[in-house]
Amino acid sequence: MALGKSLAEHGLQSERVMWVGKGPGVFEQELENLEEKIGITTLQKAVAWAQTKSMWPDTFGLACCAIEMMSIVSSRYDIARFGMEAFRSSPRQADLLIVSGRVSHKMAGPLRQIYDQMLEPKWVIAMGACASSGGMFNNYAVLQGVDRIVAVDVHVPGCPPRPEALMEGIIRLHEKVQAGVPPAYRIRGVAQ
Ligand code: SF4
Repeated sequence: MALGKSLAEHGLQSERVMWVGKGPGVFEQELENLEEKIGITTLQKAVAWAQTKSMWPDTFGLACCAIEMMSIVSSRYDIARFGMEAFRSSPRQADLLIVSGRVSHKMAGPLRQIYDQMLEPKWVIAMGACASSGGMFNNYAVLQGVDRIVAVDVHVPGCPPRPEALMEGIIRLHEKVQAGVPPAYRIRGVAQ
């Protein structure tokens, strides 16, 4: 039986549960979130938890958004609380690509090469309006959204997004990983 659900959710219709207006008994309440209370879990969940505590970003910045991205390692924002302060210079040691800034067509090839060199599982955050959609640069030189060349897991809006917004995007990504949502390249046909 999978733990962490109420008995009623498992289909156990005790007299009390079926009695409209009566909540679960004390025993049933104590079984709620039993998994967290006694610290047991599944291997899959443990791996997902570990992935969110050691998700190393690639050292890659493209434009003004990169300055905001850099500040998340400072003590004010403290990305070290997630074990993520180690920006890796080699894509082979990175799990997360934060596309921070507009992507010119000239940079699209190198960006895709870095993405391809990252080992799986890997995740991508499109940070800011330019990375997500080209932003104000609706012209021949700028890619109109990085999701045309890589599969994006989280888009962070703003021009530039504040570091808090990027932190929010990172937390949302962690929630997706812990909930068992596969990386975007596994669920999207685009940009594989
Ligand atoms: S979204 Fe704004 S701050 Fe970010 S790269 Fe584009 S113009 Fe610069």
